[in-house]
Amino acid sequence: MTVSASIPTAKSRILIAGATGFIGQFVAKASLDAGRPTYVLARPGLAGCPSKSRVLKSLHDKGAIILHGLITDRENMEKILKDHEIDIVISAVGGVNVLDQVALVEAIKAVGTVKRFLPSEFGHDVVRADPVEPGLQMYKDKRVIRRLIEEYRIPYSYICCNSIDSWPYYDNKHPADVLPPLDHFKIYGDGTVKAYFVAGTDIGKFTMKVVDDVRAINKSVHFRPSSNFYNMNELASLWEKKIGRTLPRVTVTEEDLLAIAAENNIPESIVASFTHDIFIKGCQSNFSINGPDDVEIGTLYPDEAFRTLDECFDDFANELKDNNKDLGSNGNATPNHVVSNGNATSNH
Ligand code: NDP
Repeated sequence: MTVSASIPTAKSRILIAGATGFIGQFVAKASLDAGRPTYVLARPGLAGCPSKSRVLKSLHDKGAIILHGLITDRENMEKILKDHEIDIVISAVGGVNVLDQVALVEAIKAVGTVKRFLPSEFGHDVVRADPVEPGLQMYKDKRVIRRLIEEYRIPYSYICCNSIDSWPYYDNKHPADVLPPLDHFKIYGDGTVKAYFVAGTDIGKFTMKVVDDVRAINKSVHFRPSSNFYNMNELASLWEKKIGRTLPRVTVTEEDLLAIAAENNIPESIVASFTHDIFIKGCQSNFSINGPDDVEIGTLYPDEAFRTLDECFDDFANELKDNNKDLGSNGNATPNHVVSNGNATSNH
């Protein structure tokens, strides 16, 4: 079958699955901020979860049309795509649900009118990056979805936005939920391997630009803002500048990260395997993106600035002040380091 390849427009109808999730919220807000007709797919039963209900209400208040369903329900997904004449589908389902997208891809193929699909990627280029297990399994799942999309000739864009702006704790699922440390830094290896950090709001904003852009059809879209390319040592210095004092640095070796990954505790081991891939192996920058299937976001929108990591760290410092937290001058601040959610794993 042939899927329509006509060009989406600013009035294209956008369906977002996973809008109550960590990354999906940024994307849904950006879609609404850009004034696009935005449909949000909510899983049935969210009424029992106050925090998710609040997210849905706030998206609804901003103009989102809330639909209910599961992406695994192919028949219902076909109906939704047809009834609402959806042009663009964005999925931001979590790492454990990546293969749920098979039914969604089947539905997109069956209706044949979707002009662009952005599957749940939002991290590394999963074809090039090669983490150890258990992180590798998520990439294998994402590769399965890529192959299906390409086999069905569904127009796509893969968002490879690298790391979200945050302190990159090796055992925290959603790093931007947690502020940088106030007790000591854990530095991976010698701390010299660099990574790209992107504000969640920029992940949303640039994703929404890509969905309309013909230059991004059937491309991996790489986010490599040069202003936000930092190694662990530089990140630590930046945070020390914000809090006005130095902190002890503890080395977490490659062997330490591999041992945590090998424990196969979910989600910590998955995050440890990604941390190893980023800060030991350099998976975000150890390849060039000049191929015909790649495009760098800065070349598409050279006049659009990214929020700098410096600004993002200012926000973290202000958040601490707003919470009346001592910035640590007594050296005894409570470590603010937690694994946010043990029942699912995502990241990159
Ligand atoms: P979350 O676990 O926070 O959210 C997942 C969302 O998907 C929720 O809205 C959930 O609904 C919804 N969902 C899950 N399964 C289904 C289904 N079958 N049908 C409909 N909706 C479903 O995911 P993340 O934001 O953590 O992850 C999204 C993507 O971003 C992943 O690919 C992940 O790897 C990547 N990521 C990248 C990061 C980075 O630093 N670059 C950081 C974190 C993630 P409900 O609310 O009902 O649970």
